Amino acid sequence: MMQLPLIDTFGRLHNNLRISVTDRCNIRCFYCMPAEDVVFMDRQDLLTFEEIERFVRLVVPLGITELRLTGGEPLVRRDLDKLVQMLAAIPGITDIGLTTNGLLLADQAEALHAAGLRRINISLDALDPVKFKQFTRREGYEQVRAGIAAAQRVGFDPIKINAVSVRGMTEDEIVPFGHFARETGIEVRFIEYMPLDADNAWERNKVLYAQEIIDRLSADVMPLEPVGDQDPHAPASDFAFADGVGRIGFISSISQPFCMSCNRLRITADGKLRNCLFSMEETDLRTLLRSDAPDEQLWTAVRASVAAKKEGHEINTARFVQPLRPMYSIGG
Ligand code: SF4
Repeated sequence: MMQLPLIDTFGRLHNNLRISVTDRCNIRCFYCMPAEDVVFMDRQDLLTFEEIERFVRLVVPLGITELRLTGGEPLVRRDLDKLVQMLAAIPGITDIGLTTNGLLLADQAEALHAAGLRRINISLDALDPVKFKQFTRREGYEQVRAGIAAAQRVGFDPIKINAVSVRGMTEDEIVPFGHFARETGIEVRFIEYMPLDADNAWERNKVLYAQEIIDRLSADVMPLEPVGDQDPHAPASDFAFADGVGRIGFISSISQPFCMSCNRLRITADGKLRNCLFSMEETDLRTLLRSDAPDEQLWTAVRASVAAKKEGHEINTARFVQPLRPMYSIGG
């Protein structure tokens, strides 16, 4: 039976599903997790690989073609390459990406690539090991660099670095990341700090805006120019240095929200569908999946979630309320 695509009340077509496979992580970034005493989900609460596979097979007819695996830290979930293989085998899935902190990547890069993964985003907020530890509250900088080298060696393409920018912390990282992008050919994306931390400590005056970073790179490295081949649905705005060497992206959720071109849905590791990163509501799919509910019931639940999607986050309004679920249990 032909299914209608997932179009919300603002006319946005949804074809991208982000799948959080765990809320566990091996570091403690302050803009995401509490420093200590984190309560993680029990294993039996996590969707199994088979349940994730069933759900993806079910939403392909609704128009989902792109998947991104996230966490917590997805590489702490055992045998992740097996899940990649299962998802890559689903007809209609054209693209699978992964967002990782890179600490375990050097050991898993080959198996993930062999399983069908092609694109990878690596979270790294600083090229200074001391600053790295300030952000993550853990060691591991060299492991991440080894993970990046392994990803290049194995042939992932594209490889992108996600660097969260925080005022008073990362200004000194801007120019080094500019040179890093030029020397390695790896795109660096600066992400404006968002209110999704577990400690509810986000402050607007800690946001380092994309335009400030563009100005800094243009002055101290080389002028940046917007690139033409932008994916209209991608969260990042892409630039290249004037001589064409090195690409820089900006995910400017605060200063230039991109909600009107959003094509993303998210499923949490415990099977809750979220129509937006900042959604206050969730749809429990795990109960349906575990009660062998017919496909129609799950389609109806997914459609209802899309139909209820708001115009966008309300961070720049007085109405904004930070979601109860922190970033590590939603996934990027
Ligand atoms: S904030 Fe929500 S609506 Fe906006 S781009 Fe992110 S997920 Fe989409």
